[in-house]
Amino acid sequence: MSGNQSRILAITEINNLEPVTVELPEPLSKIWATDVFNLATMEEALSKNAFKAMKNTVQTGAALDPATADVVAAAMKDWAISKGVKFFSHIFYPMTNATAEKHDGFIITNSDGGAITEFTGSLLIKGEPDGSSFPNGSLRMTNAARGYTAWDPSSPAYVMHTDNGATLMIPSVFFSWTGEALDKKIPLLRSNAAMDKAAKKVLSLMGEKEIATLSSSCGAEQEYFLVDANFASSRPDLLLAGRTLFGAAPAKGQEFDDHYFGAIPERVQVFMQDFEDKLYRLGIPAKTHHNEVAPGQFEIAPYFESANVASDHQQLLMTLLKLTAKKHGFLCLLHEKPFAGVNGSGKHVNWSVGNATQGNLLDPGSTPNENLIFLLFCGAVIRGVHVFGPLLRAAIASAANDHRLGANEAPPAILSVYLGDQLEKLFLDIKAGKLNETAKGGVMDLGLSQILKFERDPGDRNRTSPFAFTGNRFEFRAVGSSQSVSGPLVTMNTMLADSLEWIAQRLEASLASSTSQSEAVIKVLQELMEQHGNVVFGGDGYSSEWHRIAVEERGLKNIPTTADALPALLEPEVVELFKKTGVLSPVELASRYEVYAEQYILSIEVEAKLMVEMAKTMIYPSAMSYLSDLTATIAGAGDVGIEVDKSVASKVAADINSMMLAVAELSAVIGKHGFDSTEDHMKFCANTIRPLMDEVRLHADTLETEVADDLWPLPKYRELLFFR
Ligand code: ADP
Ligand code: MG
Repeated sequence: MSGNQSRILAITEINNLEPVTVELPEPLSKIWATDVFNLATMEEALSKNAFKAMKNTVQTGAALDPATADVVAAAMKDWAISKGVKFFSHIFYPMTNATAEKHDGFIITNSDGGAITEFTGSLLIKGEPDGSSFPNGSLRMTNAARGYTAWDPSSPAYVMHTDNGATLMIPSVFFSWTGEALDKKIPLLRSNAAMDKAAKKVLSLMGEKEIATLSSSCGAEQEYFLVDANFASSRPDLLLAGRTLFGAAPAKGQEFDDHYFGAIPERVQVFMQDFEDKLYRLGIPAKTHHNEVAPGQFEIAPYFESANVASDHQQLLMTLLKLTAKKHGFLCLLHEKPFAGVNGSGKHVNWSVGNATQGNLLDPGSTPNENLIFLLFCGAVIRGVHVFGPLLRAAIASAANDHRLGANEAPPAILSVYLGDQLEKLFLDIKAGKLNETAKGGVMDLGLSQILKFERDPGDRNRTSPFAFTGNRFEFRAVGSSQSVSGPLVTMNTMLADSLEWIAQRLEASLASSTSQSEAVIKVLQELMEQHGNVVFGGDGYSSEWHRIAVEERGLKNIPTTADALPALLEPEVVELFKKTGVLSPVELASRYEVYAEQYILSIEVEAKLMVEMAKTMIYPSAMSYLSDLTATIAGAGDVGIEVDKSVASKVAADINSMMLAVAELSAVIGKHGFDSTEDHMKFCANTIRPLMDEVRLHADTLETEVADDLWPLPKYRELLFFR
């Protein structure tokens, strides 16, 4: 079947589509967390003492003794078996953004041929998946390639169903035989501990007596595209690269803004409701869904949870998005820029820190002391983004996200902080010493009453900022849609820990030399703003003026590509940051650099190869057959004495030639080896391979607008974006 036929068949299929039948919806109370072995389930299944120990472990991170682990394992097994489970799996999160699992049966056989089930505390606690094929950045020599998983009791186990069975999933960490982190969960847990330690110092200096364990929270807004699966199967680029490598802009794109928050197409709503019921059963609090800006683009946002659980849930959510979409005849694209010329997809990571005794520390609060603590934590974030901006940029760097950052309607590749008018003014006043100057006993009253009136959800939201304060949390908006939220959360927690240590040191001295606590706090914040206030920006982050000011006047860095961004991981101050906070050892950090760089290089090389193949085997043949139709017709017309304008044929021929020239150039550089460093290899991908890919695409997309529609092999943008 030729490409154009499969395109037309796809359209017929879609027009004849039968609605997918889903089970009748159950009320939330009946399905909520039914597949989760959470504290509520454990309270019923465990003895009082075992439950108390587990609860303490979940809430404070304290170690669990082996005897209790045995009791928990037995209860977990019974609960799972009652749900039809025969296999269990330690689920873990390797450095590639993926989710990994290896399944083992509960079954053991005995000498008379019978079979029983077994699951002990030690089986629960530790698995040995080996997993030696995951990239590990030279952390594992092949002769010591063992990798271990260990149960993370702070994230609840759950059951995953298929049509034909169920598996017990046990959230786990993944580490090497030598004890180094090989995953995205270990550093997240460590970064939380580092933040907890530093935050406690500041809180006790502020006179807080009872301070519960602090934890970071995360609410992630996930954007995605849905494409009809019938089309997707005739687009090798969507299948292998998750994005279109070719595609001319459709006559209508997103310029009418008629999709954003519009009525959700019924077929998509049926999908969303099915998907959200699955989330509810797994205890994931789906809260908001709507159409996004681009045609075919949507968003789902669960309610926020502790960062570790939210991060596990986010991975599960991405898995379920893809699986459920498939059932509904869609391909779900999590790629950051699946279509050129329309909005890409991000994942806004809403982040705050808090505990049971002081509450959310990024909430201004209602008493003067809460206000001061809020100012310190907010100041700590400002300093963090200023000092570690390049690190934050590295934490969201990927080949895919590079297409989005700095492009239309996406955050720029310059890290700045948006505070909102009121808070920005307050911090600038602190910087200018204004709060001190007006001091007549009432200094702080002025400052504080300003905050007390601070509106939680100021109307002046700034959508152009990569890092924005939104009333009681910060929103990191530059994170890519397919990325694990762990990297950004680790970076934010760790930079906060560092800033809080910086603050604690100065606050101690300042308290000793000031007449009041508020004076002491303002002094520290003034120094902080003098050094780091440059990162605060409330204007239009998309404007070219900001790109100039940021770099020339503010001394901020514009870091457009992953090749420029990742080397930040090797900077001495970053190595030191992770080392002193205990989040990643220098070896662990270096391995991450290697893995991320390798992923970047591989994804560009794979795309380039695919592009060459598609250009040669799909686009060239269809353009040539069109050209041969044209020339035959022109010649035939000439035979009967009709003069036909040859310019169209000449233009098509010229575009074919230009495309094939670019294809030849691109082929010649793919897989080039022998670079002096990984950094050089990345730069080659960014500065040589990518521009050649753009060149191929330019000519191919021009051909798409010239070749007869019925000959064109690839489903077009209008079909991919508008058929639902
Ligand atoms: P918007 O699109 O206006 O940014 P959404 O309602 O789509 O807002 O998403 C906001 C996200 O922020 C949700 O996941 C929400 O639960 C989360 N969130 C709210 N408060 C906090 C907080 N204190 N800490 C972390 N996340 C939060
Ligand atoms: Mg939103």
